[in-house]
Amino acid sequence: MTREEYLRDMVRLWLGLPAGAEVPPLPDHLAARLLRDEERASHHRDQWGCWEFGFSDAHHRGALLVPEIDQWLADRRAAGCGGTPMWPDGHGFALAVSHDVDDLSHHVTPAQWARVARLRLAGRGGVKGRLRALAEGLPVTAWQALAIRPAPDLAATVERALDIEAELGIAASWFFTVWPISHASPYDCTYDPDDPCTFRGRRATVAEVIRAVAQAGHDVGLHGSYPTAADGDALAAEKARLERVLGRTVASTRQHWLHWLVDETPGHQAAAGLMIDGTLGFNGSAGFRAGTSLPFPSWPSGILEIPLTVMDAALFRPGAMGLDLDLAVTVVGQMIERIAAAGGLLSLLIHPGQLTDPKVETLMRRVIGQCLDRGAWTATHAAILAHWNRRAARLG
Ligand SMILES: [Zn+2]
Repeated sequence: MTREEYLRDMVRLWLGLPAGAEVPPLPDHLAARLLRDEERASHHRDQWGCWEFGFSDAHHRGALLVPEIDQWLADRRAAGCGGTPMWPDGHGFALAVSHDVDDLSHHVTPAQWARVARLRLAGRGGVKGRLRALAEGLPVTAWQALAIRPAPDLAATVERALDIEAELGIAASWFFTVWPISHASPYDCTYDPDDPCTFRGRRATVAEVIRAVAQAGHDVGLHGSYPTAADGDALAAEKARLERVLGRTVASTRQHWLHWLVDETPGHQAAAGLMIDGTLGFNGSAGFRAGTSLPFPSWPSGILEIPLTVMDAALFRPGAMGLDLDLAVTVVGQMIERIAAAGGLLSLLIHPGQLTDPKVETLMRRVIGQCLDRGAWTATHAAILAHWNRRAARLG
């Protein structure tokens, strides 16, 4: 499939038109934003090797928070070009809540602490690098020793998120990492499925927690480690480990640290048998990295992308947007307005480890509440994949 054929088919599927229908051409600047041409044109990345919002043309034009492609599609529908609606059962837009389980708890087991220490103190680039790693890593590592517990309690983190979702009657996508990680970075997560924890007041293993999340009706996916963005074999090994823990296949994924390389990662994900990715967003800001909130099969890998619209860390972290709760709710509220008006999808990422901060829980409840009040279809990434495939098959 050529680039032009792909773009024509993409617009056809978004508009819900049957095979062979006349399709309006996607304007060039929107096609470039969708296909991430700017991420190929410049090799500049941030200190973590990520493409950040400040590099993007949409940011420079003041359009980072505008789903330009969705608005263009909504205009085409209004002009009579639309067919089958995007979302099921008369819903005008959709909400997908997800969780990256980076930290299970604010406490760590002795083994987890030892892994953190090893990663922090692992030098990079010879003697100088090792000395610098020691100087930077030692104080943090020593301080973290105070957080050691034999079986860290998940009540304020994982259990809290599960309870909020049960109360609101929604299912989410939960992304877990596995250990060991091949060539782990200092940014990687350090829990193992066999590690002990305290879940619902009883001693359990992390593997039992992962299975309990799936049994509660949530979608469990892989949170591929930092190096797997560029290492297909490691990504496949992590997926296989999570599948052994879960006892079923894993289709959903999001790369840890949003470490995603435009010409490498989607291919590695597809080759590993993953089918839906939620990585395409920013660490430093809310926004529409590909100009759309809508799902789309990435080209040429075919893996279904669910663009990440907004996450807690990007809104609140000093150095990212650094907002307070009121401003964060306002900014996300404006995005919900635009997404609802254009019939898009709000992808909201909440880190369970951050739920000990009351403003993160309030944000989560308010955003979900606003979307439900406005009639959003709420779905896991796996449910969106199933819906997308059914709808695309019907359209031919
Ligand atoms: Zn992560």
